[in-house]
Amino acid sequence: MKRILQNSPVEIVKFRGVEYFIKRDDLLDKDFSGNKARKLLYLLEIEEKGLTLISRGSILSNAMFSLSVLAKLKGWRFIYFAHHLIPDLVKHPIGNLKAALENGMKLKEKRFSSKKEFEKFVENNFKTKTIIVDEGGREKEAEFGIELLGEEILDWAKRESRFNNKIFLPSGTGTTALFLQKFFLKNQTKIEVFTTPCVGGQKYLLEQFRSLEKESKFYPKILTLEKNYRFGKLYFEFYKVWLELQKSTKIEFDLLYDPLGWIVVDFYKNLLGKYTLYIHQGGVLGNESMLLRYKKKYKIGERF
Ligand SMILES: *Cc1c(COP(=O)(O)O)cnc(C)c1O
Repeated sequence: MKRILQNSPVEIVKFRGVEYFIKRDDLLDKDFSGNKARKLLYLLEIEEKGLTLISRGSILSNAMFSLSVLAKLKGWRFIYFAHHLIPDLVKHPIGNLKAALENGMKLKEKRFSSKKEFEKFVENNFKTKTIIVDEGGREKEAEFGIELLGEEILDWAKRESRFNNKIFLPSGTGTTALFLQKFFLKNQTKIEVFTTPCVGGQKYLLEQFRSLEKESKFYPKILTLEKNYRFGKLYFEFYKVWLELQKSTKIEFDLLYDPLGWIVVDFYKNLLGKYTLYIHQGGVLGNESMLLRYKKKYKIGERF
């Protein structure tokens, strides 16, 4: 799996008149890419055979797909508990779900109210040896792969004098942003990590940080907007920004996190300034089902 550890490239783009660097983690690997690959890297190191990988979360999740790739690679069983099933999608799977099922994922429907409840359920119901990965890959062990991402960025930063020492990435569980900021601080660099909560609000994101790291000096800076957006909800504004991004950067971004990410970057452009590094965290496979939902809701014609 050496190829996974290969550097992802950094490109320079212009969005609304400002230049940004983009860390193309979406190009890390054909199947195993984005921040989920980074976060799950620790699992690749496990040599044991015959394990059962168990996770939970949304049926549209990027983590679900990445876990399915990993399980297939390892020859492990993979069972996924979705909060709720979308009947149309289960009947005609596309995007992350289609790919995950093709990789052998077993899909179940069950909602757990907490990580503890989920772990207890697994403990009581599975006889074989299991590995549990919580929703979105929110695990302390994720730090291992994020540190490698940090090292790649440091290496690049040494050679790129224009870099302004600011990084932005949108957050779900906040795991990626947190461990990145921690890495840069521990390595005595001045690099600052900025993020915005796409799931829940600032309070939720801080809770996520706290569940992974006690010391608040390691927390990224949280940028928020006046308006609250609900995660996974279809905002026409998001779709429009996503199209605009595609036009001006020639890069396909994810439709769940990146539209809000770029709205925040643009809103705070005076604080962040040009030559900020934006991390493309993958998730493009999930666009297929998101686009279908947008098309239905807003009666949009063709994809581009
Ligand atoms: C999972 C994901 C995120 C959020 O990552 P966290 O580490 O949970 O904050 C952001 N963007 C994309 C594309 C993702 O797949």
